Amino acid sequence: MYRPRLDLLARRSLLRQLRTIHAAPGPEVELDGRRILMFASNNYLDLATHPKVAEAAINAIRRYGVGATASRLMSGSLTVHCELEERLAAFKGTEAALVFSTGYQANLGLVQTLAEDVSTIYADRLCHASLIDACRLSKRTLRIYRHRQVSQLRRLLERKRQGAGLILTDGVFSMDGDLAPLPSLHHLAASSNAYLVVDDAHGTGVMGHEGRGTVEHFGLTGAALIQMGTLSKALGAFGGFVTGPRDLIEYLVNRARPFVYTTALPPSMAAAASAALDLVEAEPERRAELWRLRKRLYQGLKTLGCETLDSESPILPILVGEASDTLALSEHLFAHEIYAPAIRPPTVPPSRSRIRLSVTAGHTSAQIDHLLEAVAAVRTTNGALWERLTDRTAAQRGVAAKDRSPSL
Ligand code: PMP
Repeated sequence: MYRPRLDLLARRSLLRQLRTIHAAPGPEVELDGRRILMFASNNYLDLATHPKVAEAAINAIRRYGVGATASRLMSGSLTVHCELEERLAAFKGTEAALVFSTGYQANLGLVQTLAEDVSTIYADRLCHASLIDACRLSKRTLRIYRHRQVSQLRRLLERKRQGAGLILTDGVFSMDGDLAPLPSLHHLAASSNAYLVVDDAHGTGVMGHEGRGTVEHFGLTGAALIQMGTLSKALGAFGGFVTGPRDLIEYLVNRARPFVYTTALPPSMAAAASAALDLVEAEPERRAELWRLRKRLYQGLKTLGCETLDSESPILPILVGEASDTLALSEHLFAHEIYAPAIRPPTVPPSRSRIRLSVTAGHTSAQIDHLLEAVAAVRTTNGALWERLTDRTAAQRGVAAKDRSPSL
């Protein structure tokens, strides 16, 4: 019944397919019987396979079993959940924290709960899909502002009638790798009776001197902000969390449906995330290595003439434009033992398809150089694609189209 629709997606270069990987998620994986360099994971600090993180998970399974068996309000909170929440609150500099089963659910629960008290929600056009889905579920008026355009947001807030507003932004935008203008947003929220929620899924462990996230990067204090994060990226585990004032956290326990009505995070994942936080604090050299490699890749891509948008993070997009070209580049890289999937609509707006590269602390300089050589090889194997790839005008056309996000 769905075959014609699948065929249509394929004809438009928009078909997505799962690929089976036969080895642990590291910088190098086994795919279709070949060793492939992985440049698509969010394993920024290379902790998903760290022996201490794995050991913590195994020990928790021995002590608590595999599944959490029910919602925490039903069968009780486990010590590992509570310990992790204390660690997360201290790490983010907030009064309290609450762990959810995924980051997606954390956003759904947080936004729906805050929305009880607000008339209008304001979201950056490139906010993560989970924030947008949360807005839809909250049934509040949603105003989208242009990506990182504080002046437009200010005008929208000026038109706000009575009641509080809610501003949603990613800290690090997941497909562009650029940063939210947090100081201005923070200031604007404070002066316009609005809550500010920062989704720092990609900033946690990565941004800021101590890896506390985008809030630390901008020198803001966590206490005044509501932050969401995930345990599944730099922390290498699984699950999501919200940090903020204690009364909000207690209220979420009572009201956030994705917390109340779902089985709690498996204890092994809570223990693994705590062990990962230990490593984030004890081994700052991981972050230093991540940033050293990111700089190497960024400079190499710039030298080649690639358009990397305004990325300031280990997420480095190569803006291509059309979905078919992007697919061709992804396949070219795959032929050079590099896994970097084509990111196409609806994840990004039309004409903004791209390769999204993510660097991790586990990569080596030689692997970054291999990736750069593979990108450079397009020039000889597919001259027409290379021209489009490095053509400023085409890239600019894409930039103009960037606010037409179809995922909204
Ligand atoms: N927010 C952002 C910005 C994300 O990139 C993601 C994951 N892709 C999430 C939220 C959801 O987190 P999780 O994977 O833990 O559900």
